Amino acid sequence: MSELRDLIDQASRLVAFTGAGISAESGIPTYRGQEGLWQKYDPAKYADITYFRKNPAYYWNFFREVRYPMLKQAQPNQAHLALARLEQMGKLRAIITQNIDGLHQQAGSRKVVELHGNSRRFFCLRCGEREAMEQVYVRLSEEIQPACISCGGQLRPEVVFFGEALSASVMVEAETLTRESDLFVVVGSSLVVQPAAQFPVQAKQNGSRLVIVNKDPTPLDALADMVYHRQASEVFGTAV
Ligand code: NAD
Repeated sequence: MSELRDLIDQASRLVAFTGAGISAESGIPTYRGQEGLWQKYDPAKYADITYFRKNPAYYWNFFREVRYPMLKQAQPNQAHLALARLEQMGKLRAIITQNIDGLHQQAGSRKVVELHGNSRRFFCLRCGEREAMEQVYVRLSEEIQPACISCGGQLRPEVVFFGEALSASVMVEAETLTRESDLFVVVGSSLVVQPAAQFPVQAKQNGSRLVIVNKDPTPLDALADMVYHRQASEVFGTAV
């Protein structure tokens, strides 16, 4: 890992780009993994806006049975902690993440650009009031679909569902960080979904070095200066 450590030492504008793979070792399975947890509930249903509008109870059952217990139990792993340490050392400028699990913040990272939102936060579709996960979960034992505590309106998670656009301001922030980076490190993303795949390409086009840490090969491996087909915690546990 000494080559990666050297690249990090030389960099002055390091940006990390993370995906579901970084949280796999924290007990949150990826969609594309073999684990059966996503099998009972289909992401094409609980993560889809059209389905949520028609049948919100499906999402709330998923949240009660799967999402909440998983998030409650998950702890940041070596890779999350290493990225937080790099920021504290002044080495890492920001994390751009596709994840919605909040584990970077739990690890101590402060500058986290969440492309797809955060499943630990909720807001009311009528009045906009925000509520935290714990507060909403408590009410789920009495209500099939928890209503807004202020106005009784419908709550939804603060995530970008399939079928919704990503926030324009979040995208601009992520693109600016990517363009200005001099070292761009992908951790745990298959890089097959847009807009995920565009960021490493943008970084490279703007002269940044590119490192990919992902258990399996990605379509952008050939573009990278360094590729590790390893577990994220293994790489970051020793490199940082
Ligand atoms: P993905 O499921 O497409 O790919 C994950 C990649 O991580 C795989 O290529 C796999 O080889 C790799 N991987 C698995 N375990 C790893 C480990 N321990 N170390 C390093 N790499 C590992 O994930 P994606 O690219 O993030 O895209 C899927 C979408 O699913 C994202 O939009 C994301 O929002 C969502 N998602 C998020 C979470 C989460 O918040 N933790 C979990 C599942 C899915």
